[in-house]
Amino acid sequence: MDYLPVFLQLRSLRAVIIGGGRIAARKADLLLRAGACVTVVAPRLHEDLRSRAAAGELTHLAESFVPAHLDGAVIAVAATGLEEINTAVSEAARERNLPVNVVDDASLSTFIFPAIIDRSPIVIAVGSAGQAPVLARWVRERIEAILPAGLGALARFMGERRSRIRRSLGQAARRGFWERIVHGKAGAHLLAGDRAGAERAFDAELLVSQLTTSAVTGGSALGEVYLIGAGPGDPDLLTLRALQLLQQADVVLYDRLVPAAVLERARREARRLFVGKSHGDGADRTPQEDIHRLMIRFARQGLKVARLKGGDPFIFGRGGEEVEALARHGIPYLVVPGITAALGAAAAAGIPLTQRELSQSVTFVTGHDAGSDSLDWRTLAQPHRTVVFYMGVGKLEPIVARLSAAGAADTLPAALIERATLPGQRILRGTLATIADLGSGAAISPPALLIVGEVVAASLAAEPAALPAPAAETAADLIQPI
Ligand code: SAH
Repeated sequence: MDYLPVFLQLRSLRAVIIGGGRIAARKADLLLRAGACVTVVAPRLHEDLRSRAAAGELTHLAESFVPAHLDGAVIAVAATGLEEINTAVSEAARERNLPVNVVDDASLSTFIFPAIIDRSPIVIAVGSAGQAPVLARWVRERIEAILPAGLGALARFMGERRSRIRRSLGQAARRGFWERIVHGKAGAHLLAGDRAGAERAFDAELLVSQLTTSAVTGGSALGEVYLIGAGPGDPDLLTLRALQLLQQADVVLYDRLVPAAVLERARREARRLFVGKSHGDGADRTPQEDIHRLMIRFARQGLKVARLKGGDPFIFGRGGEEVEALARHGIPYLVVPGITAALGAAAAAGIPLTQRELSQSVTFVTGHDAGSDSLDWRTLAQPHRTVVFYMGVGKLEPIVARLSAAGAADTLPAALIERATLPGQRILRGTLATIADLGSGAAISPPALLIVGEVVAASLAAEPAALPAPAAETAADLIQPI
């Protein structure tokens, strides 16, 4: 570490800026935001500085720099663009043991202005030791993008209540309490701009915490379960909330559809438990009731349990049953939606699931029971709709047969998307007449989706390079490299 990051309290202290240009104006703005008394030494001023000086926000000395300008200062900035003067400022500051920043010259500086994210009172500083300021700004943008906009409001809300909580709860209970505020309902309400709701949730949480910690056993507070949709596989398709809660979890219970790259985003110390099938035949899948028992047991131990499921928990994910079991046993839970496989696959293949004039609705169907009469095939086979079959790879022939029998045209475009958004993703396009053969010819295997509808051809129009030559239409031609 070349520099130590610290946060300086500058309120009412003297900061001196040598130079009066645009960059000096930016530094003055930062120092004023931090409450410093700013003096600008420069023969001429940029208009921003001029108006601030006129408004009495800063002091302007229309003089050439002399070391005595630094008397009484706690921090100095040289932004003259003139090497000789910058060097003189740097030397004078060092003689006085004064932190000095010379803009764009790390060798003359003893401190560097970091790239800043200001959600006061939360402030994040990113530095590159003066070696790559553009990269530091890029990192700042990345961090900025993942932070909730209401972070500052939440921090202030918590700050206002700190002393009350210190009086109301013992030290051991406080950390867990604040974590539940940040990650629970109070935080969610505040970040959504609902202060009254946040206050209600806060008071309720405090009451529960006081009751729990005053119990004779002194036992830990009840844990909770986060039912998290992990998306179709690419870890970048996790939601921000999924990431935040994965970082909180003590235990992660995950399905077979959740890839290692997603699991890696969980807190390093979290215990990871696989509760899907282990060898691909599905026979040794953990029974659903056992998953319920595990979640409840861990939550009762006071742990935060991330129940991580592929796609969205409420789409063919048995999330409903899990929520029901948790509610029945009084376990608090949060549901975090995920990008369901149909959306991930459609985006990967460039297939708009609805499109004016081509399709006015999209239906997600399980292909699992394709042979049975439980589905309304006549509706599914109607024109101008898109149908996405989950779990249908082993049932392509019966699906096609049912759709055809219900009146769908042989020429209806269809696509198979295997391992959407995952390494090894494959996309196959054909028609109702060809898709089952294409699928078995290419040995498409789960996880894969079948998308049927005119919109599948719309995607071809958008990807002319992917069009197969009509004379050589084989499965191999249709499989697009990714
Ligand atoms: N809850 C999940 C679906 C679980 S059912 C969701 O919302 O996506 C399992 C089926 O989802 C698989 O048989 C397959 O049809 C589909 N699926 C899940 N991930 C997939 C992926 N990455 N690519 C293609 N299909 C996928």
